[in-house]
Amino acid sequence: MKTHVKALIVGGGAVGTSIAYHLARAGWADVMLLERDELTSGSTWHAAGLLPLFNMNYATTHIHKYSVDFYKALEAETGLNAGFSVVGNLRMAQTQARMDEYMLYATTAETAEVPYEWMTPAQIKERWPLVRTEDLKGAIYHPTDGYINPADVTMAMAKGARQRGVIIERKWQVDGYEWTGSEWHVTVTKMVEKGGNLVASDETAVIVAEHVVTATGNHAQRTANLLGIKIPAIPVEHQFIVTEPDPALVEYRKTYGEHPVLRDADAKWYVREERGGWILGPYERNAPARFAYGVPDSFRADLFPLDLERIEEEYMSMIHRIPSSETVGLKDDYNGPICYTPDGNPLVGPAPGLRNMWLAEGFSFGITAAGGTGYYLAQMMVEGEAEIDMASLDPKRYGPWMTTEYAVTKNEECYEHVYILHHPDEERPAARPLRTAPVYDRQKALGAQFGQVNGWERPNYYAPAGFDDHDARSFRRGGWWQYAVDEAKAIREGVGLIDATAFSKHIVKGPGATQFLDWFTCNKLPKVGRINLTYALTLAGTTRTEYTIVRRAEDAYYLVSAGAWTAYDADYLRKAAEDKAPEFGYIEIQDVTSQFGVFAIAGPKARDVLNKVIRDADPATALTNKRFPWLSARRIELGMCPVDAIRVAYTGELGWELHHPIEMQTYLWDLLMEAGAEHGLKLVGARAQNWLRQEKSYRAFGTELGRDATPAEADLPRFIDLGKEFHGKDAMVQTGVRSTCCTLLIDGPEDADPWGREALYLEDGTKVGRLTSGGYSVAFEKSIGMGYVRPDLAVEGQKLKVKMFDQLWDAVVTCDSPYDPKNETIRKDG
Ligand SMILES: Cc1cc2nc3c(=O)[nH]c(=O)nc-3n(C[C@H](O)[C@H](O)[C@H](O)COP(=O)(O)OP(=O)(O)OC[C@H]3O[C@@H](n4cnc5c(N)ncnc54)[C@H](O)[C@@H]3O)c2cc1C
Repeated sequence: MKTHVKALIVGGGAVGTSIAYHLARAGWADVMLLERDELTSGSTWHAAGLLPLFNMNYATTHIHKYSVDFYKALEAETGLNAGFSVVGNLRMAQTQARMDEYMLYATTAETAEVPYEWMTPAQIKERWPLVRTEDLKGAIYHPTDGYINPADVTMAMAKGARQRGVIIERKWQVDGYEWTGSEWHVTVTKMVEKGGNLVASDETAVIVAEHVVTATGNHAQRTANLLGIKIPAIPVEHQFIVTEPDPALVEYRKTYGEHPVLRDADAKWYVREERGGWILGPYERNAPARFAYGVPDSFRADLFPLDLERIEEEYMSMIHRIPSSETVGLKDDYNGPICYTPDGNPLVGPAPGLRNMWLAEGFSFGITAAGGTGYYLAQMMVEGEAEIDMASLDPKRYGPWMTTEYAVTKNEECYEHVYILHHPDEERPAARPLRTAPVYDRQKALGAQFGQVNGWERPNYYAPAGFDDHDARSFRRGGWWQYAVDEAKAIREGVGLIDATAFSKHIVKGPGATQFLDWFTCNKLPKVGRINLTYALTLAGTTRTEYTIVRRAEDAYYLVSAGAWTAYDADYLRKAAEDKAPEFGYIEIQDVTSQFGVFAIAGPKARDVLNKVIRDADPATALTNKRFPWLSARRIELGMCPVDAIRVAYTGELGWELHHPIEMQTYLWDLLMEAGAEHGLKLVGARAQNWLRQEKSYRAFGTELGRDATPAEADLPRFIDLGKEFHGKDAMVQTGVRSTCCTLLIDGPEDADPWGREALYLEDGTKVGRLTSGGYSVAFEKSIGMGYVRPDLAVEGQKLKVKMFDQLWDAVVTCDSPYDPKNETIRKDG
């Protein structure tokens, strides 16, 4: 067996095989894939093979689209027919809310060139008379997808990989990983058959690999243990049943073609034809997680017993929808482990804390996702970055706080939620509250409705007692909308207090810190006592992280970045500092996220509130522009609480961020609440803040800022210092500007605002970009959004159209920062 390779892929399911194929196609020689058993012997063999294009996640939409196109082309390359039945996919809606969901999805689908059609109940009935339609509102139909034979498509990819030089070794199990500082030493064991079991033999070897990719499916927990990391990929039971031939279907098929894959989302199932009968795949309640601590040796390509009772409701609803299925018996059943993650997206990208170790784990739609995952992961490995932003799939979106019980609880919830209405303002209830700031109980008592960010509970908005956030969700303006309007107005007109404790916070210090950060980020470093907004770039010159940098001393910095991305930011920062320490000197990195709480106080009266509680030799001047100018940072004392205050406000109003010791948080909260009472201090949540920052054109990480656009494309020239050398600079300059970020004011529907996923058009119907954020502007009393368009269109006054609810609505590109473009209110003295 070959023992030195450039890349070693562990796992021969659909995902690993596709990665091997695409690495070879991207030009890497010396790629090897190891499979402990036979190819496809994991979850891949028992998948139903459906390839749904429908997905609410932007990156995954691209991944699925790539797979569907790729699988169609695979036969020409390999000569193997993977059995792709392009029967289409009919996703039915029983309610208007479900149609709203499809319309939101459809506008995103347009941004990824995914074709779809709308169908009325009458059109469905006419084409597929076996389907009952009188209780349907309509459906979205994808003509280009369908289903495939999972084993055959994997074998076709394996053949394609071999044709491109990939070595595939079966019956070799990876049992250990050791990083030497420059390469991986991977210990492998030959597996042998013994009495129907697969057991380890005495034959072992060590494979030296520059890069390793794990695609170990249900074995992810064993992989995590071997690597010494946590991976929240734990399978859940998933069943499908196959019926005997349905005489009505058999008769119908004598004249007509095959039914599309049918999905009755409100009834939580998919159905497709199978040899004259039907396959029913439900996403039922109470499906248990399995193998939380690893797959037992005795479990090979095995299945669990069918639990018919658990899927009775879905079974009955299939009979309702396809009445002819009532009398047909069951022929076969499958109940297999299907891997899940807490948010349902797979984990694709660099492993936390490790070098040249890539994860491709936790796939619940792994047949659909395999092709695209291989393509985009190979881009990341070979070119340094993928052409789409893969952050939403990054394994580091869960931090060290993530435990097995959390993953089990959330994965079970995620399975059950596959077919719930995916409101953009959805907040899932399981495993909560988990990470709470000390003021959580106080906020709750005051009506806070929380969202979960990176495990943290963060107020989204505040509502009166008895208000139910669940009932308030909508694809249009939810029941919470007016509360967010009132909160946003309070900041524009009075004063508001926002809890921003979830922010990621890092201290970077030491003799190498200044040179390092100067190289690591694209803006000039601030002077001592000042702050700057800056960006760390990827190798491809796109935005990896946005930082507010506070310079506390010549070689001591405090970095604040987005709350959702603590482990993601920490990993990149640490690895870069480790690489650069020999050149720049010792650099210490501390993640202090949990040590400091943050309150943001903002609004014209913010200074008045703080003046009441600041302790200073001259309190009257402590917060004036002279002593505390905009974009500076100072240690102040509020009552007995030491506060590292930063004069900056993400809402674009006069304000300060108050970074305080977490153990003094309730003290500070009470102090501010009391001082604020006479000024009408209002508690404000994340939703109002998100609207307000769009009025200021402040880009947000994860929406406008990500790995698919450079800071130049984000149109942030004032934060890029082209006079210095920094990581990613050459690539950023070479990339040029493919599309440009801009802010739009929108005359949308009366009852809805955009969510930041909508397609943008010219008046003549030419597609020219997409929104990345959306919401409501209290300053302009209409919808607002931010997004990317063709550079020539990102000019003030340009008229565009936004696709919402299947209609085009007027929009106009504004100047940058349409509210207070000269930053006069932020700079107000007092
Ligand atoms: C009943 C059911 C129906 C499904 N239907 C669909 C569907 O219609 N459409 C869809 O897209 N998805 C479907 N899925 C999900 C799909 O099966 C999985 O997402 C997909 O197969 C995952 O592929 P994978 O390559 O990640 O994992 P796997 O197929 O499980 O492959 C992982 C491989 O890694 C090997 N391995 C593990 N550890 C080691 C090691 N240490 N050394 C060497 N080899 C190792 C295993 O032996 C295994 O072969 C279904 C799942 C179930 C259970």
